[in-house]
Amino acid sequence: MSNREVLLSIKGLRKYFAVGSGRMLRAVNGIDLDIYRGETLSLVGESGSGKSTLGKAIMGVYPPTEGSIHYAGQPFLVKRKQDRLAFSRRAQMIFQDPYASLNPRKTVAAIIGEGMDIHGLFRGRERLERICELLELVGLRREMASRYPHEFSGGQRQRIGIARALSLGPEFIVSDEPISALDVSIQAQIVNLLKSLQRELSLTHLFIAHDLNMVRYISDRVAVMYLGSIVELADSGDIYAEPLHPYTQGLLSAVPVMNPDNIRPAGQEYLKGEIPSPASDIPGCAFCSRCSRAMPVCETARPQPVEAAPGHTVACHLYAN
Ligand code: SF4
Repeated sequence: MSNREVLLSIKGLRKYFAVGSGRMLRAVNGIDLDIYRGETLSLVGESGSGKSTLGKAIMGVYPPTEGSIHYAGQPFLVKRKQDRLAFSRRAQMIFQDPYASLNPRKTVAAIIGEGMDIHGLFRGRERLERICELLELVGLRREMASRYPHEFSGGQRQRIGIARALSLGPEFIVSDEPISALDVSIQAQIVNLLKSLQRELSLTHLFIAHDLNMVRYISDRVAVMYLGSIVELADSGDIYAEPLHPYTQGLLSAVPVMNPDNIRPAGQEYLKGEIPSPASDIPGCAFCSRCSRAMPVCETARPQPVEAAPGHTVACHLYAN
């Protein structure tokens, strides 16, 4: 991966929220991450791990408390309106809830065409033709342009959300749990659509999910987040074949086993307990309270990421040099 072009580079990113009485909720707590042009990087972890906050910070929805984001080699600025507008042509977001993210009073054409109108990109017949092309691209019919969101199923609404995200021809997409509100039978269809669009349009894709099962089929690399930090990052095949961090191993234990005898690999442990509050002040490893392999050092020192194998980093004292 090192020879590939870095599209997005994050260094020392923190995003804290004040929660009263001088306490801070550390949603993102010191992240370094490069996203390469043309890859699908999946960000996984339980609810409360900070993955959606990281996605929104990348998109400029939340200004960072600390740290930097560079996009295509340039510092990422979201303060000025013209910067946000310019960035929205290059990067778009697909949202979790296909029911809440579409305005029920607008037709599909108005929803998909809104970005084009803001940017003054297409008008009249050309605008309508572009909308119809986008509908067909996401597997819907062009005559659906005149309908309203309530006339569609959840899966179809998510397809409309995807068409809207693609309307300005972006190069980078952040999908924030795009399948978690959908029936299991529809989830695979949406994942397959996102996968084929990523290839067809040469998109760079940050896919945020808690379901490691679906992530497997869409990702080039997987980053595992726990309580605001990335604890493991590797090529997708390596994460599934040889997960190193005890948290990743626990997450994988929740994935259904696809073998006739329902036998898990030896040593695979189930994830126990709950993720601590991001407002708690933990001096050592944030996973310590749930880890069956914790050592005394884990309670006092925060583990730093080390490269355990080429392209495979893990933040755990078991792998410290
Ligand atoms: Fe477990 Fe210690 Fe590794 Fe944390 S650093 S995951 S507590 S072994």
